[in-house]
Amino acid sequence: MSTVDAEVRAFTARKFEAPAKFIEFCQLGGAPLRGYIGGKYVAGTMNTTFQTIDPGSLEVLATVCEMGAAEVDAAVTEAYRAYHGSQGKGWKTWPVEDRCRLVMRFVELCERDRDVLLACEIFDGGKVSELAEGDFDQIRATAEYFCQVAKSAEMGDGEALGISSSLKGFTYREPWGVVAGIIPWNYPVVLNSWFIFPALLAGNCILLKPAEDTPLSSLYMAKLAEEAGFPAGVFNVLPGRGEITGQCIAEHPGVRFIAFTGSPEIGQSIMRTCDRHGTRMKREMGGNGAAIVLDDVDPEAVARQIGRYTNQHFGQTCCTIHRVFVDKKIADEFIDSQRAFFENLQIGYQADAGTQLGAVVNSTQHRRVLQAQQETARRGGQIVLSGGPAEVADKEGYYIKPALYKTQPGIDCNPHEVFHAFATICPVQSVAEAVELANRTPYGLGASVWTKDIERGINLAKQLRDGTVQVNCHNSIAYGLPYGGQGISGGPGGGVNCEETFYDYTQVKAVYVADYPS
Ligand code: NAD
Ligand code: MN
Repeated sequence: MSTVDAEVRAFTARKFEAPAKFIEFCQLGGAPLRGYIGGKYVAGTMNTTFQTIDPGSLEVLATVCEMGAAEVDAAVTEAYRAYHGSQGKGWKTWPVEDRCRLVMRFVELCERDRDVLLACEIFDGGKVSELAEGDFDQIRATAEYFCQVAKSAEMGDGEALGISSSLKGFTYREPWGVVAGIIPWNYPVVLNSWFIFPALLAGNCILLKPAEDTPLSSLYMAKLAEEAGFPAGVFNVLPGRGEITGQCIAEHPGVRFIAFTGSPEIGQSIMRTCDRHGTRMKREMGGNGAAIVLDDVDPEAVARQIGRYTNQHFGQTCCTIHRVFVDKKIADEFIDSQRAFFENLQIGYQADAGTQLGAVVNSTQHRRVLQAQQETARRGGQIVLSGGPAEVADKEGYYIKPALYKTQPGIDCNPHEVFHAFATICPVQSVAEAVELANRTPYGLGASVWTKDIERGINLAKQLRDGTVQVNCHNSIAYGLPYGGQGISGGPGGGVNCEETFYDYTQVKAVYVADYPS
């Protein structure tokens, strides 16, 4: 994810070699990597393993044990026990300062092993180093922010309300108890942090379910959590497929709350499952990001910026700009510049110096993106860059060329999140038309307006139906401001990275007390 800077730097690879500690961790003396439940490493009862690969080389990085219903059940039991503790000394009773100290100890261990976690991001997920480094910094940033929120949060008894002379009432705010985080593959370290820290600091014990394509950073974090000294059962990691491990988590009534990040389709299906037995949920889901370009800008400069946001993590970012609406007076020049930008991207292996566009994460994505490129042309998108598979010397991997289309109002050629360096550019007559078209989608995650007229930009940004709207930047993230989605892109819940996020990890009840009847 990019930082608060308007300039996107997280973009290009330097050469990155896997550190010995990473290789040792992945190979584990020839044994598969296990889940981490109740302070123990667990192979599980399913006798099923899966492999995680490097999508840029198709090399198998590690074999991982899959956790099933019995392991989810054990993790819930262990987490529940750790939450309540013996003799009432459970995680829920820990003073917030003590929780913060332990969390910051964990952060320090992450920093000690920075190169291992970078290797997880770069090799397991296929990410360039600049982006992985920026992602890594979010560990500390998230932890520090939520420590500060936790210290001033109003937990426990709220102010008493005198209802009548013999009746008073007050609120009581407490953690959920056992909560689960279900995480996608595109930003493991960032999204783990966004879940782990507010959840733990609010006093919950956690089940972390990484994506099957990128389990390594979560499994390495389990080791660091153990070393940091989290009491057994506070921090559990359950690797496995969504339809197995994820589904078992969603179906377990002992999980009181789930924080899900991923696609709207899966988020909707988990919500339906949870609803059957009362597990609450917050969801951060996909988008089909729009950018509106006004006629007062330098088309070349703005095309370069928008190109960078379209290609951030090769377009595999939830907020990625996939739809551009540009004033027709500058459209030709804008399209030419955008084409030049994409044509000049260096396609290559993500750990080789200079790479800007690496492989997509798996074979399913590879097929989906290529299909979407053809589908866009079939639906009337006029090809500017046709995409198609890309070749990288000496590497087998899921490489795809960027795709760009010119379209016009009324042609619905880009309705779904494609998740690649892929965009449609639509020349428009007016800004009103641009806003109307940008909003004509069920998604609502991130959008931006590009203009020299800041006032006007702000005014237009407010008219966009998205959780995050930006002027002359896109996908900026700052702690203290909510990052969430409208429409099918998010909710319920207050988004991530703000005070409300912390309270999402708590529940509140009303307590009434009357005088003893005489
Ligand atoms: P996905 O929905 O396929 O999977 C997300 C997670 O859900 C994975 O851990 C997966 O194993 C699990 N899962 C799958 N089926 C499940 C089931 N039936 N029950 C329980 N869990 C199940 O998403 P993905 O392809 O991994 O990630 C890409 C998506 O995530 C994109 O739509 C992207 O925009 C979105 N995303 C959103 C944000 C945000 O902050 N809004 C951030 C990153 C990614
Ligand atoms: Mn992988």
